[in-house]
Amino acid sequence: MGIRTGAQYIQALKSRSPEIWLEGRRVTDVVNEPVFNQPIQEIAKLYDMQHDPQYQDSITHICKETGERVNNAFLHPTTYEELMARSQLFEIYAKSTFGLMGRTPDFLNVVVTGMAHNGWFLDQYNTEWSVNIKNYFNYIRDNDLFLTHAIINPQNDRSKNSHGQKDMFTHLGAVEETPDGLIVRGAKMLATLAPITDEVIIYSFPGFEPGDERYALAFAVPVDTPGLKLICREPMQDGKRSQFDHPLASRFEEMDALLVFNDVLVPWDRVFLYNNVEAANLLYPKTGIAQQPAHQSGVRGYVKLAFATEVACKLADSIGVDGYLNVQNDLGELVQNVEVIRSLLRVAEYEYETTASGEVMPNAAALETIRGMLPKMYPRAIEVIQIIGAGGLLMSPTGSDFNAPEIRSEIDKYYLGRDGVDSLERVKLFKLAWDLCGEAFGQRLVQYERYYTGDPIRKRAIFYNGYKRKAQFAMVDEALSVTNEFVKEQPKLAK
Ligand SMILES: Cc1cc2nc3c(=O)[nH]c(=O)nc-3n(C[C@H](O)[C@H](O)[C@H](O)COP(=O)(O)OP(=O)(O)OC[C@H]3O[C@@H](n4cnc5c(N)ncnc54)[C@H](O)[C@@H]3O)c2cc1C
Repeated sequence: MGIRTGAQYIQALKSRSPEIWLEGRRVTDVVNEPVFNQPIQEIAKLYDMQHDPQYQDSITHICKETGERVNNAFLHPTTYEELMARSQLFEIYAKSTFGLMGRTPDFLNVVVTGMAHNGWFLDQYNTEWSVNIKNYFNYIRDNDLFLTHAIINPQNDRSKNSHGQKDMFTHLGAVEETPDGLIVRGAKMLATLAPITDEVIIYSFPGFEPGDERYALAFAVPVDTPGLKLICREPMQDGKRSQFDHPLASRFEEMDALLVFNDVLVPWDRVFLYNNVEAANLLYPKTGIAQQPAHQSGVRGYVKLAFATEVACKLADSIGVDGYLNVQNDLGELVQNVEVIRSLLRVAEYEYETTASGEVMPNAAALETIRGMLPKMYPRAIEVIQIIGAGGLLMSPTGSDFNAPEIRSEIDKYYLGRDGVDSLERVKLFKLAWDLCGEAFGQRLVQYERYYTGDPIRKRAIFYNGYKRKAQFAMVDEALSVTNEFVKEQPKLAK
């Protein structure tokens, strides 16, 4: 089939009935559920862009294996040009959602592409696993599917590993092997967008210890697999708020869900890794499934930071405060942060690395630096919006107030901005800013930037330890070498 349209994506959602729980009730019609409807439309737009002549050649290509047109997320990059073809896709998709949707289909499709093309790693443990992931890759590429993933365990007792939790199946683990496949039980989090995806893929961050064998798992199943429950967090919008009052929250909320597996059968041909602690610990660092999607996240994070920065600048200009030194200092800082991330992305792409198997990967140090800096830069951009908007952020009337003739003249008089900015323009801008910096929707976006890729503190520590392993500190040795002659060997004193 190759590239889907938005309508085909929505049709596929309608054809399934996954067990979705939202605010204590079972959702039976996900497409028409108000909380999900608009985000579904936003994802559908991305599928439609694949057919739009304006974008088609930038985000899709003809697959050499099948001759069909497929998304660039399924391109296994072996040249700089192919790496950049993916970069273009990431940027076009990110701009379509202002970087506010992190788990658009390209993200996990890149993960599966990376895993499938590093079959050599799985072959060391079990040759069936690499065949399974390659077939799965073909399946999602040719059907243009949308995946969610859950790679961490529920947050119960973090001081203990999976096998040390109170119940053996609090964390997702294998219960038994059957001729048809593996029976799995327990939970995984935090599956962003799960209710509106086609498939669920499970794999894990490293950290397994002997005793954790049953939890060392990687597999994929359809989202409506019997026994799989999706328990959604509290929605941050009810799907009924107007786009005038909540121009971002009404469109781009990514629902997150806990995945509960109640004795789910995973067919053997969908198992990519099982019962091997070493393989589970090395899957993430060895197969590029950290580095390649970090490229998508870096580009998306760059667009999101640039968007927040634009909002801060427009806000300041609209009320005539961007002539003040303190405001210019804050805005200059944000613009420089955007430039730092843009520059790091260019380094990641120009200074790419080629693996032994010929895969071209963006530069790991530059990507990890982005991952280390965005969790500080994005919250800072939000803080600056809060500081500049100040009390005005809380004072916006609603769209309905503009339509009330009795108060319209007051609204037009007291809500206008600097010369040339009328009340409608100013209020619309402040509402956009409030969605980003005040609403629960905006707070989730901050939390996303901090944690979507794991704990930033431990990630930075891992980065430093990697640096230290390779570092020679040669400059320090050279600087100290001039002093070598100074301290003379002294004759030993007789006791
Ligand atoms: C909005 C959002 C969307 C997300 N989307 C997804 C998704 O689609 N799929 C997915 O799989 N995951 C997703 N994640 C989850 C993300 O991977 C985790 O949040 C991240 O790995 C951190 O894990 P945690 O939240 O369980 O925090 P914890 O690991 O429980 O950490 C809690 C605190 O304890 C500290 N801590 C915990 N353990 C240690 C330790 N061993 N050493 C030192 N300090 C420690 C941490 O520094 C932190 O301050 C998402 C997260 C967010 C916030």
